[in-house]
Amino acid sequence: MDSAPCALNLRSIGVKTNKYVTKQILAAYKLRPSGKRGNGLYAARNIFKDEEIIRVVGPSIGPKIAETLYWSYGIDVAIPVGIEKYILPINETRFINHSCEPNIGFSGAGIFVAMRDIRKGEELTYDYSICDIDNDYIIDCFCGTKSCRSRISGQDIFDENLHLAQKYKGYIPQYVLREIKRRNKKESRLFHSNGFNNRFDFFK
Ligand SMILES: [Zn+2]
Repeated sequence: MDSAPCALNLRSIGVKTNKYVTKQILAAYKLRPSGKRGNGLYAARNIFKDEEIIRVVGPSIGPKIAETLYWSYGIDVAIPVGIEKYILPINETRFINHSCEPNIGFSGAGIFVAMRDIRKGEELTYDYSICDIDNDYIIDCFCGTKSCRSRISGQDIFDENLHLAQKYKGYIPQYVLREIKRRNKKESRLFHSNGFNNRFDFFK
């Protein structure tokens, strides 16, 4: 980007400011209609790679409440922040749409950051399968990007053929990374128990 790197400090450029001024002027996002997808969050200014954009705010809920909200009330906005842990977002995070070619990820559970430089006006999107790893999570996707997977599932991040763990490296929440490791270990144990991985077998 051609503007000054991370010109986030208004004081440094001579603006007399307080936290309200800062919040309004530096807000990285705004809510706007997003075609068929209802509302979406858009970059209100240029955002730099790794800049924090927004954090999910709201009450914590478990899977039972999340399921009740979904099946009984059609409320599907809960954002996963751990294994069987969700936050019911009361801020704009609930309007962030999925994309298979997203521009934001996580620096921690529920903390959204830019994965690359983002131009003012671009829609802010993340890959839902980067944080939702429920076994029964599955949605159709019409994001229309080149890499659209058509169907998004809670297992995508573990599917080595999709290479998502590499694609989103550095932007995956810890609880998901731990789960990826745990499953890899399990797989390699299976591999070992079959005797395939013992190269010395060849010399016996
Ligand atoms: Zn898609």
